[in-house]
Amino acid sequence: MIYDKNNIFAKILRKEIPCKKIFENEHVLSFHDINPQKKIHAIVIPKGKYVDLDDFNQRATDKEIVALSKAITEVAKILSISAGTDKGYRALTNLNEHGGQEVPHLHFHLFGGEIVGKMVE
Ligand code: AMP
Repeated sequence: MIYDKNNIFAKILRKEIPCKKIFENEHVLSFHDINPQKKIHAIVIPKGKYVDLDDFNQRATDKEIVALSKAITEVAKILSISAGTDKGYRALTNLNEHGGQEVPHLHFHLFGGEIVGKMVE
């Protein structure tokens, strides 16, 4: 996949379209998925232009990589789905065609608030 600067998450980052924000810092934005697949369905994205996790791990700075990883745990805490203190969640990211990726800007899905179910259908 190539990075399309007009993808929906790029537009959210540029504030051209709204989102239901959960968390934001210098490197990361998190918001509720517009079409939730579970009771809680959050999206966590880096602010940099990375198409998927492989692209991110190859080109992002260590600071960006650490920030994204820590943000997932922070968002889980905010949503009360942490593994340690709450009932846990699933974090996943889709890559390209076989992974079922639709939006070409790296994003992690966080599913929780109920038993998430089978890992792969
Ligand atoms: P993926 O198939 O992994 O690329 O997931 C894309 C996700 O983006 C889907 O779960 C969509 O529901 C979600 N999505 C699409 N547009 C928006 C939007 N404007 N705000 C929040 N989530 C969105």
